[in-house]
Amino acid sequence: MIIKRIAVYRLILPLDYVYTCSSIAGLAELDDTVVAVTTESGLTGWGEACPPGSSYLPAFAPGVRSAIAELAPHLLGQNAVQLQKLNDRMDRVLPGHNYAKSAIDVACWDLLGRMSGLAVCDLLGGRYEEAAEVVRGIPTDSPEAMIADIARHRSQGIRTFSFKLGGDPAADIRRIRAIMDAAEIGDAYIADANRGFSPSAAIRLMQAVEDLDLAFEQPCETYEQCVTVRRQTRQPLVLDECIHTAEDLLRAVADRAADMINLKLARIGGLTRLRKMRDLCVDAGLTMTIQDAGGADLVRSAITHLAQSTPKRYRHSLWDPMEWHSVALSERAGAELSEGRLSALDSSGLGVEPSADMLGAPCMTFEAQGPGE
Ligand code: MG
Repeated sequence: MIIKRIAVYRLILPLDYVYTCSSIAGLAELDDTVVAVTTESGLTGWGEACPPGSSYLPAFAPGVRSAIAELAPHLLGQNAVQLQKLNDRMDRVLPGHNYAKSAIDVACWDLLGRMSGLAVCDLLGGRYEEAAEVVRGIPTDSPEAMIADIARHRSQGIRTFSFKLGGDPAADIRRIRAIMDAAEIGDAYIADANRGFSPSAAIRLMQAVEDLDLAFEQPCETYEQCVTVRRQTRQPLVLDECIHTAEDLLRAVADRAADMINLKLARIGGLTRLRKMRDLCVDAGLTMTIQDAGGADLVRSAITHLAQSTPKRYRHSLWDPMEWHSVALSERAGAELSEGRLSALDSSGLGVEPSADMLGAPCMTFEAQGPGE
C-alpha cells in the first residue's frame, strides 16, 4: 500500500444559515479541503479537513493546504496503512499543524478499510450499536430564536443540544433561563461558552443558574482558567478547545478537571490520535462527545465510525457536520441520519465516494516519479 499520489481539492460549502458563537462571528461558508491518497495498486482513500473560519482554533483553511503541500513530498513512497509510522513521519517533517494531518490520516484509515474489506468502525475496535445519538449545536441568537431552533430539531428526533453562549454574562443568564424554561423531559443541554468568559465572569454566571440541570462547556480561554472555574462551581464541566493532545487529556484526568471531554477530529489530528484519546477516556471513565469543527460527508463518516466503536456508557453524543449545510460530496452518504441518530454504512473503509463533479480539478497534486521505498 505504497503511496503514489496525493491530490488536494478545495471546495466552498455555503452554509444554510449564518453561524455565530462567542468565537465565530457571522460565518456564512466553509472553505473545505478534501484529500485523495492513491496507492501504487490504484486504491484511493479520502480525507477532509475544514476549519470553520480562522478565529475558532489555531487552524485556518489555507493553512490546511499549505501544510499538506509541505508534508506530501515526504509521504510519497511510504506505506499508507502503517498509520503510526506515517503519523510519526508527519510529526518529524512538520511538527504541529495536526488539523492538516487529520485529512491525510483519515484518508489512510479509509485505505486500510478498503484494503481489508472492513468498515473503519470495525478497525477502531468494533461497532457497539446500530446508531449514535446526535448533539445539535444551536448558534447564538435571541432566546426566542434559539428556543424555536431547538423545537425544530426536537421534532426531527434530536434531544441533545449544545447551545452557544454569546459572552455577555447578564444576557447569557437570561438566555440560559429562557431555554431551560422551555426544556422538555428527555432533553439534555450543554451551554457552550467557546472560551468567551474570564474566570470571574464564568463563575458568576454558573453560580447564578446553579438550580438548573445543564452542563457547561469550555467557559474560558485556557485550561488553567477552566480549572479555576471548576473549583468554584458545581455544575458538570466539559473541556473542548484546551484539550489538544493525550498529554492534555492525562493532565485533565489527574486534576479531575472535567466530567466530559469534547474530542474533535481535526483538532486532535486524525483518527489515529483520536482513537488513542478515546481509549484513554474510556479507561479513565470520562464521558465524551465526539465531534469535529466543520466538514461534509467525509468528516461525518469518520466521526460516526469512531463514535459507533465507542462504548455507549462513555459516549454522550456525536456531532453532525451536515447540520450547517446540505452539500454532499458523495451520492452515497457514508453515514445516515435518522430519528436523531447517525449510523455508518457497513461498507469497506468510510463508505464515501466523492463525485468528480463535486470535486472539480485538484488544486494541488503530488506524485511519486519512481518506484516506492
Ligand atoms: Mg465546544
